[in-house]
Amino acid sequence: MSAYSRHYNTIVIGVGGMGSATCYELARRGQSVLGIEQFDIPHDMGSSHGYTRIIRLAYYEHPSYVMLLRRAYELWEEIERRSGEHLLHKIGSIDAGPADSWVFKGSLRSVIEMGIDHEVLTGLELNKRWPGYRLPQDIMALYQKDGGFLTPERCVVAYVNAAMALGAEIHGREQVLGWEPRGDGVRVFTDRATYDADSLVFTAGSWNSRLMPWLHGLAVPERQVLIWMQPERPELFQPASFPVFNCLVDEGRFYGFPVYGVPGFKFGKYHHFEESGAPEQFSREPTRADEEMLRDFAARYFPQAGGPTMTLKMCMFTNAPDSHFIVDLHPQLPQVSFASACSGHGYKFASVIGEILADLAQRRTCRHDISLFALSRFGGAMSVLHRDKVELIQRGLPGAEASHAPAAQLPAPGQMYQRQDRQHNDPGVWHSQDRHRDRYSQDIRPFW
Ligand SMILES: Cc1cc2nc3c(=O)[nH]c(=O)nc-3n(C[C@H](O)[C@H](O)[C@H](O)COP(=O)(O)OP(=O)(O)OC[C@H]3O[C@@H](n4cnc5c(N)ncnc54)[C@H](O)[C@@H]3O)c2cc1C
Repeated sequence: MSAYSRHYNTIVIGVGGMGSATCYELARRGQSVLGIEQFDIPHDMGSSHGYTRIIRLAYYEHPSYVMLLRRAYELWEEIERRSGEHLLHKIGSIDAGPADSWVFKGSLRSVIEMGIDHEVLTGLELNKRWPGYRLPQDIMALYQKDGGFLTPERCVVAYVNAAMALGAEIHGREQVLGWEPRGDGVRVFTDRATYDADSLVFTAGSWNSRLMPWLHGLAVPERQVLIWMQPERPELFQPASFPVFNCLVDEGRFYGFPVYGVPGFKFGKYHHFEESGAPEQFSREPTRADEEMLRDFAARYFPQAGGPTMTLKMCMFTNAPDSHFIVDLHPQLPQVSFASACSGHGYKFASVIGEILADLAQRRTCRHDISLFALSRFGGAMSVLHRDKVELIQRGLPGAEASHAPAAQLPAPGQMYQRQDRQHNDPGVWHSQDRHRDRYSQDIRPFW
């Protein structure tokens, strides 16, 4: 490849869940786009692998997400039509927990406030209707028929194919090593070439803070493990007989799926063993301890899925301190935008995050309300996107309190940003209760 290549309207760093959708959205608008991915496309080294991801409209995390989800569904349906592939499987979703838990109460409140069809069931009723489940009888569950799952690897492929058909250039196995602002644009350095662009979009998932030092401590990778177990009664764990679930039980919050993609009932525990650190510090090979913890959960709540382990896989969350997303323009460099849209619940939004990032890259503004995701909620300067809210803040309207969070560290404009292989003062893998995530929340809590 030549040492010096072309000029693009936009370069997208990271062609995973968010980046693939962004490349497509930009190409659809007639922009010249370069998407750069360090691994294969798709791959199983980041956050968007494992055959299935939950999508649901009942959203206990915050009502703002529901508006975005409605658009996300539309955009998923659009890419399905374009690719001719079944990517969005609406098989129903369950959000269950004790009656006064934030998972159940928050889900219920979100569907009532947003006028979404739903059913409320006791654990007893749930177990009877879907006999693969054996949740505590007094647990409360919300069933929402439009919930279900997406197929993340196939979605990445569908978006990349569609983007390329519209003229986008996508490079796999090319690693971005650094970047610098150049006038109103940017220059990007990779292990193969140097590129210029008017705008730069970061969708580098668990590696985001490597290239964006202002996200240090705000986009923190966390090791997760998923298991697929062979059901003893496979007919109870099929997409037609088993809705996806989120459930809060004594052992923690778990999520799961029917058999799809590999011959096993899949589930995982949010924040698994709470191991945070840099991506290459995690043990990629699941251990016996990972497996045993997960199998113990199945033995208690899904006893008919107790057959042999079929697959175990490691995957990474990238957590913000408050478990919401971070999607914004750089406060001093509006030609740079970024999304850390994970915290364990981002995939379902990838289609609409693509639209948001395309808006930010192309127009420095956005058609959706993304104030919940502003970088400045952690302190520091506001991006141009949010500065018009300052007036409201100065007038003392509700929600205008100053943040007590530490300011995000922003290097000076004009500085070259080189890929950092270690986080500052990186002590290796740590358990998240020792870290500041817990100063904000132990886990997502609904706002109501
Ligand atoms: C186990 C697990 C279960 C989950 N379950 C759900 C769920 O059910 N529902 C849901 O909505 N969400 C879920 N999530 C969250 C969701 O999967 C993530 O929010 C989403 O995958 C994040 O996508 P991303 O594009 O940010 O990251 P990725 O898809 O990992 O993409 C980032 C890309 O950037 C590339 N990259 C990084 N650095 C460089 C560089 N220097 N040069 C070039 N390329 C680079 C990486 O290789 C990678 O391909 C889950 C996550 C995990 C880990």
